[in-house]
Amino acid sequence: MEGALTARDKVGVQDFVLLDAYTSESAFLDNLRKRFSENLIYTYIGTLLVSVNPYQELGIYTVSQMELYQGVNFFELPPHIYAIADNAYRMMCSELNNHFILISGESGAGKTEASKKILQYFAVTCPMTKSLQIARDRLLLSNPVLEAFGNAKTLRNDNSSRFGKYMDIQFDYKGVPVGGHIISYLIEKSRVVYQNQGERNFHIFYQLLEGGEEELLASLGLERDPQLYKYLSQGHCAKESSINDKNDWKTVSSAFSVIDFTEDDLENLFGIIASVLHLGNICFEENHQGCATVPDTHEIKWISKLLGVHPSILLEALTHRKIEAKTEEVICPLTLELSVYARDAMAKAVYGRTFTWLVNKINSSLVNKDFTKKTVIGLLDIYGFEVFDKNGFEQFCINYCNEKLQQLLIERTLKAEQAEYEMEGIEWEPIQYFNNKIICDLVEERHKGIISILDEECIRPGPATDLSFLEKLEEKVGKHAHFQTRKLAGPKGRKRIGWMEFRLCHYAGEVTYCTKGFLEKNNDLLYRHLKEVLCRSKNRILKECFLVAELENRRRPPTVGTQFKNSLSSLLEILISKEPSYIRCIKPNDRKEPSKFDDLLIRHQIKYLGLMEHLRVRRAGFAYRRKYEHFLQRTKLIMTTISLFTSRTKIFIRFPRTLFATEDAFEFSKHQLVARIQAKYKACLERREYVK
Ligand code: ADP
Ligand code: MG
Repeated sequence: MEGALTARDKVGVQDFVLLDAYTSESAFLDNLRKRFSENLIYTYIGTLLVSVNPYQELGIYTVSQMELYQGVNFFELPPHIYAIADNAYRMMCSELNNHFILISGESGAGKTEASKKILQYFAVTCPMTKSLQIARDRLLLSNPVLEAFGNAKTLRNDNSSRFGKYMDIQFDYKGVPVGGHIISYLIEKSRVVYQNQGERNFHIFYQLLEGGEEELLASLGLERDPQLYKYLSQGHCAKESSINDKNDWKTVSSAFSVIDFTEDDLENLFGIIASVLHLGNICFEENHQGCATVPDTHEIKWISKLLGVHPSILLEALTHRKIEAKTEEVICPLTLELSVYARDAMAKAVYGRTFTWLVNKINSSLVNKDFTKKTVIGLLDIYGFEVFDKNGFEQFCINYCNEKLQQLLIERTLKAEQAEYEMEGIEWEPIQYFNNKIICDLVEERHKGIISILDEECIRPGPATDLSFLEKLEEKVGKHAHFQTRKLAGPKGRKRIGWMEFRLCHYAGEVTYCTKGFLEKNNDLLYRHLKEVLCRSKNRILKECFLVAELENRRRPPTVGTQFKNSLSSLLEILISKEPSYIRCIKPNDRKEPSKFDDLLIRHQIKYLGLMEHLRVRRAGFAYRRKYEHFLQRTKLIMTTISLFTSRTKIFIRFPRTLFATEDAFEFSKHQLVARIQAKYKACLERREYVK
């Protein structure tokens, strides 16, 4: 027993529910640290998995590990992401319902890696027929393609996902993966034209230049050196030692062929990618009238060739604007500044819509019409909470998204769990938690929330500016407890807020946003002139992305903020109809280093991920609950000796892990286990409380 104690001291407990000092954040942190120093990156809180990014290969994702976890009771083996995957899978198979796994955590915490591990687990362990191998391969290979176009190096993560992703893996009634569907959320288009110091554009640009064959590059009019392209060199780190663009290009190229991309698709696709690079290199000059001109038309020629548009029409569209007067269209020249704006808007629009096309294309290759009755496991890997020195519209959207997901977690766990006890008539001391609904409302409430106020400023006639937007905010939500501006900031001594800034007190901490660019990004306007050029492009992909019908429709499309709000609300609908599993990822340090455990940083994440609250509810609650039928089915053997039951519909056992999942559980025979249960519940048995 002493040995066991030392082991526990050394490696900590594998489920936080077993911590003696379970209300202490320091004890929580200690346990996490102990385990991390032993390379044990996974720990449970009941059925929720906490994962700490090891920043090194641990050798725990082998096929034999996968096999180990296959079909094994959740608590019988040490915590692992495979256990979460397997548990969701088995529940889906036995109860024939839909599941989702929500992976959250800040940028660089390991979400994307986690989702890949889960996908691999299913690919390896699920039953498979020969005819369905292709479906499995496509599911797997959609990842490198989407990452190439949607991920980039940021200061936080060398492979940071710059879009949100929800993926359904569809299974037939035998549990064979037969297809899938992907929904993407808000790709960060601004990155196409601008990157901060130390950051890169999307991987695909560098992969193409580094790995593309000579003839391909020649046909696209490209040089190998990324430094030659304005859109690739602003962050001054085109070459990054941790990234092997050449190899990644090979992976992506072979993935393309498996996912059914034709030669023609690729020619059109890379025509677009190359055009974006050429666009970035167009230089404007100002003539005597103060109008923009393009002295060197080298790039214009290449773009017109690759996109199938007339060079003079493209040139005109980049330097002029069509204004509709009452009866006729007037064409007026743009200033240099507006031409640059038009050029960048075109690059962003083209890239953004091509990304959507790519997702649709992958989806059409993942469709499997042969199976009508399917159950799914959804994987949600969405950008985590982000705080930079300067935060803009993108961070505002990303952090709003995190508020919504936190809200889902609260509704589904903290709130639902307590409501369930009440409903089942179980004695229960309510546990306090912070409900972030108030912040969600501040952002999204109709007519009153920040997004509505922003939209109003965007459509209001007259000169609206980022500053007038800020003033509107002050007027309308200035008194909200979670909102501050410089003018309305609280007592002295608070962190400084600039003139153009407002601060939101998110559930995860305070973030100061600079309103500069909010209107423009929310509007996301592409001059009509340029839209016309793109709609008439002969490039097949662009033709599908820019429909002529769009030109005829004079109605204003919904703003970016509103679109995002709507897509989040349909995402939540998708999720609410499914059974959840949660993985909370933690980033151990800011330097992407292995074995560095930064207490302060981690403490902050523990706080905002709500892990302590979760633990308290779990600990006070019943970790195990099953409907009678399912429980009886699974535990027939034990049932002959002892029968457990509680409320109207379910069986509840408090801390079954102390019985089933201690490190030494395997050393017990079933017989001994039953004796142990009896001993444990003897008191209850006598009192005829939860056990009969
Ligand atoms: P996120 O999606 O949360 O922003 P990623 O999943 O991209 O973060 O992880 C960032 C980096 O951390 C990865 O590129 C990888 O180097 C490392 N990493 C994450 N999870 C693991 C893991 N389980 N094992 C080894 N390295 C990991
Ligand atoms: Mg990611």
